[in-house]
Amino acid sequence: MKYVFVSGGVISGIGKGILASSTGLLLKTLGYRVTSIKIDPYMNIDAGTMSPLEHGEVFTLDDGAECDLDLGNYERYLNISLTRDHNITTGKVYQKVLEKERRGDYLGKTVQIVPHLTNEIQDWIERTARIPVDNSGEEPDICIVELGGTVGDIESAPFIEAVRQFQFRVGSENFALVHVCLVPVINGEQKTKPTQAAIKDLRSLGLTPDLIACRCPKELEPTTMSKISMFCHVGPDHVLGVHDLNSTYHVPLLLKEQKLDEFLVKKFGLGDSNLSQERI
Ligand code: ADP
Repeated sequence: MKYVFVSGGVISGIGKGILASSTGLLLKTLGYRVTSIKIDPYMNIDAGTMSPLEHGEVFTLDDGAECDLDLGNYERYLNISLTRDHNITTGKVYQKVLEKERRGDYLGKTVQIVPHLTNEIQDWIERTARIPVDNSGEEPDICIVELGGTVGDIESAPFIEAVRQFQFRVGSENFALVHVCLVPVINGEQKTKPTQAAIKDLRSLGLTPDLIACRCPKELEPTTMSKISMFCHVGPDHVLGVHDLNSTYHVPLLLKEQKLDEFLVKKFGLGDSNLSQERI
């Protein structure tokens, strides 16, 4: 199983969901079976009890789970059908750990955020990634995991730590991280400082981005890209520009032009030889 994690910095609502769905779609068009998981770092068990004025509309899955609209994006973009386990919230993970604690599963140990909660998060991701989500009924090849919220928030800290450990659990050849940042335009100038600060935060938590996706109102200028590459210590080809488009359904094409799919195939050591002919 290969994992692509999508995290975000600077502000929330930056387009992580669209980027995660579009990445999945590009990999699906290459013939891979793609699934996705959404992590929402709030204490609610699900979005069903949250005001739509605050949280936005709820998306209901086939099994009745009420979750974030991003799961609807995944289902539409990838033509898959997800389950309640594909939406992990802080509330759900705590509930699971506390149930285990009451049963005595921890055998007298002191139950802690690290390692008990972080292990539960990693187990949950690994277990859910294997659930078949399309008509084939087969195990997916690639799992896209979107980490909601903003890196650096207290809320997302246990998840970030779990992801940090997870890269070693699955190995670097099976793990890629795309960090989505904002490049604001002030007086006509594209500003890279918020992205630099966000990448610094990410690195301080032990995570290294494979790709930096820059959301910008306008197309990213080559000088902005090279500045981000230099100050954020990633190769020039590892900076992706995602400017505002009339339709979010054009985002996959924009990412394909910048060879996101080729990068991931190479990073994961995937090739057509791994696929049976009818899946291509
Ligand atoms: P997040 O997952 O970070 O909260 P979303 O993916 O839900 O963000 O996107 C937030 C909003 O921005 C949505 O309304 C989405 O349609 C819009 N959006 C995302 N990417 C783009 C883009 N490239 N161009 C225009 N609108 C976008």
